[in-house]
Amino acid sequence: MYRRKIAMTTSELKTKLKSLGNITKKQRNSIVCILIGHSRIRYITWGCIYCARCDEMLIDGLVSTPDPEYFKDDVYIECPHGSNCKKCAEHKKKLTWKDEIFV
Ligand SMILES: [Zn+2]
Ligand SMILES: [Zn+2]
Repeated sequence: MYRRKIAMTTSELKTKLKSLGNITKKQRNSIVCILIGHSRIRYITWGCIYCARCDEMLIDGLVSTPDPEYFKDDVYIECPHGSNCKKCAEHKKKLTWKDEIFV
């Protein structure tokens, strides 16, 4: 579930995606997450945290406690703390292309 990020540049990623030919947006996004890791942009539905790029559930908050290390830089779409959430605004500054591509 927790994937290690691989050092890869944007152009390397795009070349790799091109080599895959015709794939759906959803497939592409999942592959991007496999290659470079999940985005730190996430969303919460019913206590579960999802990756905003590939929609994979990262944690089921009802059955397990999130690893604070893995979720420490999260930016939430429609954050439960409101649109003026200071944490999300702070974390947003740390995002890189790896978090923002296709999200
Ligand atoms: Zn993902
Ligand atoms: Zn927030």
